[in-house]
Amino acid sequence: MDIHSIGVIGAGQMGNGIAHVMAVAGYDVVMTDISEEALQAAVARIDKNMERQVGRGLISAEDKATAMGRISITMDTPEVAQTDLVIEAATEREEVKQKIFDGLLPHLKPETILTTNTSSISITRLASRTDRPEKFMGFHFMNPVPVMQLVELIRGIATDKDTFDTCLGVVDRLGKTAASAEDFPAFIVNRILMPMINEAVYTLYEGVGNVTSIDRAMKLGTNHPMGPLELADFIGLDTCLAIMNVLHDGLADTKYRPCPLLTKYVEAGWLGRKTQRGFYDYRGDEPVPTR
Ligand code: NAD
Repeated sequence: MDIHSIGVIGAGQMGNGIAHVMAVAGYDVVMTDISEEALQAAVARIDKNMERQVGRGLISAEDKATAMGRISITMDTPEVAQTDLVIEAATEREEVKQKIFDGLLPHLKPETILTTNTSSISITRLASRTDRPEKFMGFHFMNPVPVMQLVELIRGIATDKDTFDTCLGVVDRLGKTAASAEDFPAFIVNRILMPMINEAVYTLYEGVGNVTSIDRAMKLGTNHPMGPLELADFIGLDTCLAIMNVLHDGLADTKYRPCPLLTKYVEAGWLGRKTQRGFYDYRGDEPVPTR
């Protein structure tokens, strides 16, 4: 199937990145969110990030203007349903995603492919509650989307070959690389990454190290570009906790038990960079460890 237009649901850190790369690659993009403020902030963020790409010579000022012109925003979900490929990138909660798909289904074109950027939730289960499980799959971008090379493509049990190949074609056109994963909790990247982040939080919780020593140890000791706690703040602690809960529930193994300290940060509303406070406090000029 030829894809010309992309619907993006959720204009948070992932949604704005997805809209950005799709528009630069020449797709028309319609982006929606329940928050008008989030939509406005997403457009401002895309503009800023594209400007940075212009500054680095990655795209021309003209490319930027054309790409920005391809992005429209709306609070009206049915408008998104008229696109060829929908990518749901709203909050990582199954009931949120379920409600979005329920609202979308009556308005979808028959040929529209439905995808979700979920980090962990069962593609097969989400697909089974739609009218098109064969045209449903996981389209999992990495953060920050304009920078990261990988897209994880996840087939549900019913996803057909045309749907998979069409999404693979879109990944190619973005100039990114796909890795294909089977539909088990958290797929590949987060199945491996999140237990490491959770273990870093346990290390902090048990007093083995403080925020600085844990991040420094992992950066300099294992050559990771970011420490695990810095990375957790970057991802969003609510998203990290949601993924650990999916692993814990889905695989029924105590090794995936979310660290109580991670839960405490989320309960405090200290969700990381997006709320200016997490394992670091970002309200000043420099991030300051909160422990
Ligand atoms: P975020 O909190 O930055 O943004 C979520 C957005 O969804 C918010 O703007 C919110 O207003 C919106 N939203 C909530 N309910 C909605 C609804 N019913 N309809 C439309 N919009 C709604 O979250 P994020 O980090 O962008 O994560 C979004 C998705 O991407 C999640 O499924 C997450 O697991 C996944 N993901 C996140 C990362 C990451 O590093 N943060 C990486 C890969 C995938």
